Amino acid sequence: MAANLRYCFISEWLDPASGILWKYQLFYYPESKEVEMVDIKNRRHFLKRTKYEELKPSLLFLGSVVTVFSRQLKLTEYGDEFTRNRMESQSERTLAMIKPDAYKNMGKIINAICQSGFLISKLRIGKLSKEEAGEFYAVHAGKPFVDRLTDFMSSGRVVAMELVAPGAIRKWRELIGPTDSNQARAEAPGSLRAQFGTDKTFNACHGSDAPDTAAEECNFWFGPGRYPGKCDLAAGTTLCLVKPHLVADGAAGLVIDLIQESFEVTAGGLYNLDRNAAAEFLEVYKGVLPAGDFNSMVEQLTSGACIALEVADRDGADAVEPFRQLAGPLDPELGRVLRPASLRARFGLDAVRNGVHCTDLPEDGVLEVNYFFTILPTAS
Ligand code: GDP
Ligand code: MG
Repeated sequence: MAANLRYCFISEWLDPASGILWKYQLFYYPESKEVEMVDIKNRRHFLKRTKYEELKPSLLFLGSVVTVFSRQLKLTEYGDEFTRNRMESQSERTLAMIKPDAYKNMGKIINAICQSGFLISKLRIGKLSKEEAGEFYAVHAGKPFVDRLTDFMSSGRVVAMELVAPGAIRKWRELIGPTDSNQARAEAPGSLRAQFGTDKTFNACHGSDAPDTAAEECNFWFGPGRYPGKCDLAAGTTLCLVKPHLVADGAAGLVIDLIQESFEVTAGGLYNLDRNAAAEFLEVYKGVLPAGDFNSMVEQLTSGACIALEVADRDGADAVEPFRQLAGPLDPELGRVLRPASLRARFGLDAVRNGVHCTDLPEDGVLEVNYFFTILPTAS
């Protein structure tokens, strides 16, 4: 690595207290893991060059949200040509979908995505209408298979994700394999379509085929004002938040897979919570917990992206209490003794970084689910 390597991005921070949008130059020094911020409007230092090991270099790409000392900074532009030249090819993006036939294998597929070195920058679970499916697949309009395809794509939930990686478009198409799942089993048996698809229509996954279609398809799902396939929220559901430390470790797929073994996931999205949103969401714990613990919980929820899931009982019973059982005791240390198979016992590090948040009281299920799926905007 060249000495004194320095990257520069233009970043925005919406001050939740004043509503003012601040713009900073954000400098990152990868060798020393230091950050530095300059307030663009007032042309003065906002943060001196300071060691900050929590910033992951893999999060440095346009559109990303990075947390620096509790501030969520959105990277909106490259700050110099050097950064553009270095970073542009490192952060190609593509649109991936898990199709309705593979929805039940969402956890396994998300795990394969994380293990293959992709970063999931956006995620939304939705249901497409037949018209929306036709719009998504407009390039195939008039082809003999399109009616079957749009019936299939509107037959159940799909997971849409924006994936970021060097050469993401090609890399993802290689991971999913040939269009026809039978051909995939013959030619690329380890591919996702070979493992989770059936034939030429029911083929488990979608991947964009070129930079222009990737941009269009990402815009279809995540562009401003877009929200195709918004889900109906079911009664008796509960909220599970896969906390930022697990998402950052690429463990979200493993957790979702365990959830899918015994529950139905009926909605989902990836969120970058700011301090206001996290504190509002955790409000009920404010009086109950010591102030330091409350602040640590807020800090954890704002330290990076989290994945919110609406979780339902398969037979329509209330899911809050049974899901709390799967989540296990709040403190993973205790969980490892009392409930070793629980999610927190398996994935938690300590009482704050305990893997997942789940709704505690049956009457709060609807409130918490609504907070994420009707009030907050997902990452866009
Ligand atoms: P992809 O880019 O690999 O997904 O393939 P295409 O863009 O060519 O087609 C879009 C989707 O339409 C595929 O993923 C299949 O689900 C479906 N499809 C494509 N070709 C055929 C076909 O010849 N017959 C049928 N039944 N379905 C097809
Ligand atoms: Mg295609």
